[in-house]
Amino acid sequence: MKIYEMTNEQRIELLKKRGLINSKQAQGLKERQPITIDLANSLSENQIGVFSLPYGFATDFLIDGKDYVVPMVIEEPSVIAAASNAAKRIKNSGGFKTFPSERIVYGQIVLENLSVSDIEKLEQSCSEIFEFAQKAHPSLISRGGGVVSLKFNRYDDFLELELGIDTVDAMGANMVNSILEKTAQKITTMVSGDILCSILSNSGNGQVITAEAEIDFEQLKTKEMSGLEVAQRITRLAEFAKQSVKRAVTHNKGIMNGIDAVYLATGNDFRAQEAAAHSFAFETGQYQPFSTWKIQNDHLVGTLKMPVELGSVGGAISALPMAQMSLAIMKIESSKQLQSIIAAVGLANNLSALRALVTTGIQAGHMSLQSKSLAVSVGAEGEEIVEVSKILNQTKNYTIANAKQILTRLRGK
Ligand code: NDP
Repeated sequence: MKIYEMTNEQRIELLKKRGLINSKQAQGLKERQPITIDLANSLSENQIGVFSLPYGFATDFLIDGKDYVVPMVIEEPSVIAAASNAAKRIKNSGGFKTFPSERIVYGQIVLENLSVSDIEKLEQSCSEIFEFAQKAHPSLISRGGGVVSLKFNRYDDFLELELGIDTVDAMGANMVNSILEKTAQKITTMVSGDILCSILSNSGNGQVITAEAEIDFEQLKTKEMSGLEVAQRITRLAEFAKQSVKRAVTHNKGIMNGIDAVYLATGNDFRAQEAAAHSFAFETGQYQPFSTWKIQNDHLVGTLKMPVELGSVGGAISALPMAQMSLAIMKIESSKQLQSIIAAVGLANNLSALRALVTTGIQAGHMSLQSKSLAVSVGAEGEEIVEVSKILNQTKNYTIANAKQILTRLRGK
């Protein structure tokens, strides 16, 4: 039986049978246990409840020789299906290869009202400040991370101290901010200027990862088009995205569809990722797509390059039971491994979107999946959802009025 044909219970049992979740987690999923109010209150403020989103998984990810089932939290129909569909085509062509980056988070201490001699004094005290910053979070050093770079940058009215910090498996925002604030205190004892602020940068420049896939033409063909023709059209559309900002933004939105879904499933900070990704897209001065596509050695070759700013420990990741379950399902051992999976997911969603766009168009697949949520939005329940969705797909008239009429007819009113 295909996974998309299974009931929710059957899918949970499948993950349990594959050893990806344990009995307690399976039970929790079946009972749809929300997080406790205590946990909600400890994560953010002014709580009144718990907001639920669909939790599912994408299949067939073969990344750097390892098979993965990838949990995703997303309210948009077709994202999980699209990721799984492209992942299978890529798996049948040999899988994804990824090239991890360093794990460096940059932080800024912004100083002002400094005299020239104060600036020179600070610039000459790099080693002393570096050593102080290094000792500000000793457990990071024992884990193989810590401060890796320090430099001063002069601006018209400001002096910036930029620290590069390897945060190992943590996203590192809190850690870096603590190191910066302690270091800023030290600086105030050395010179008489003022500290304007101390904060990490979400630029993501120290966490740029590359994912690649070489896809056999055979895996791309449709009933109407050869695989080569599909591949050629994909490369032309990807080229257009380099030239048209309006297209590049949507190209990248398709990539973020999958990426954000894994961020949510793992309790990661998707706002940080969005900020990092879009500043990277604008790095050359013209907003660019995160991926490129070309034909090489009789294959369609896709390369995605972008920052992936995350952690596999710390923050809400360690507190949320569902985030822990997602990490367990993927057997995550390090933040680098999670970065690789997320980059592969981005490339998979991108391939699916491009292939649909240059062949049948996006709506054929999208609306047939959207039809279920349209059915629910007009009040369909249980079996009615399947029936209304089926008729919507037959009539291909995806409007609220049509969905209401179908439901009324079904109920014999
Ligand atoms: P934490 O404050 O939770 O720090 C990470 C924790 O993980 C530390 O307690 C550390 O232990 C522990 N840890 C265990 N194993 C490891 C390991 N292998 N590598 C590294 N650390 C390990 O989280 P972060 O510093 O990662 O900050 C992330 C949070 O900050 C997110 O919730 C984010 O939303 C938020 N945030 C984001 C901002 C932004 O993006 N601009 C700004 C401010 C906050 P130990 O203490 O022993 O080192």
